Amino acid sequence: MTAKANSMREQFRQESKKARERIQTTPDGMVGWVIRFLQTDLEALTPSEWTVLAFEVASFVDDLTGRYGGLVATESGWAVEAVPKGTQHERLPSRQEALTIQKSLLAQLEAYWEKAYVGFTFPQLTLIVTAPGAFDEQRGTVVVAAQQKIKEFEYRFAHLLAQSGQYIRRCPECSKIYLAIRCDQLYCHPRCQARVASRKWREARKAEEKKEKRHGAKRRKG
Ligand SMILES: [Zn+2]
Repeated sequence: MTAKANSMREQFRQESKKARERIQTTPDGMVGWVIRFLQTDLEALTPSEWTVLAFEVASFVDDLTGRYGGLVATESGWAVEAVPKGTQHERLPSRQEALTIQKSLLAQLEAYWEKAYVGFTFPQLTLIVTAPGAFDEQRGTVVVAAQQKIKEFEYRFAHLLAQSGQYIRRCPECSKIYLAIRCDQLYCHPRCQARVASRKWREARKAEEKKEKRHGAKRRKG
C-alpha cells in the first residue's frame, strides 16, 4: 500500500474514532444519537456538517463496544455485533443513503408505536462467528453482515428498540421524538406540558364564560 493510501486510511480511522466518541457522549448515548439523527434535516446540512454526520452514521453501524450484543443470543453466550462488510469498511454513506435510512427507521418506529411490535426483514444476512479472544476474552462473537448497509443500521436499531423502545416517544404537543425519563411521561418537556395545561385552562374558562352569558341572558329574560 502506498504512503498516501496509508495516511488516508489513518485519517479515516481517526475521524471514525472521533465520531464514535461523539455518539457515546451524546446525552442518552446511542439512543439519544439515533433520536437526534431521525430528526435532523439532512438536506439542510452544509457539506462539512454532512461529512461530520456521515462519519457518525457509519460509526453507528461499525461500533463494536458490544452494548447490545448479549440480547440476541443470551443462551449461547455470544455477543452479537454489526460490522460492515470487508471493503465497504472505509466508505462513508451518501446523503441519499442516510435519507433512505432515516425514512425507513421512522416508518418502523411509527409501526412500533401503532402495534407495539415491528418486523425487520433481512435478505442475505450473514452471521460470522469468531472464537473467544477477538472482541471478548470469554465469549466468541457473532458478527452480522448484511448485503446493504441500511440493513446493518436497521439491525442495530432493532436492538435499541428492544432495549429502550418503550421510552422512545413522540410528543403529542410539538411532534418531537424524544426519550422519556419516566414511564408515565407524555410530553417531551415541561414547556409543552405547561402549554397544554394553560390551553386547557383557557378553553375551560371560555366554556365557563359562555355558560355564564347564557345564564345571564336567561335571567334578564325572566
Ligand atoms: Zn413537546
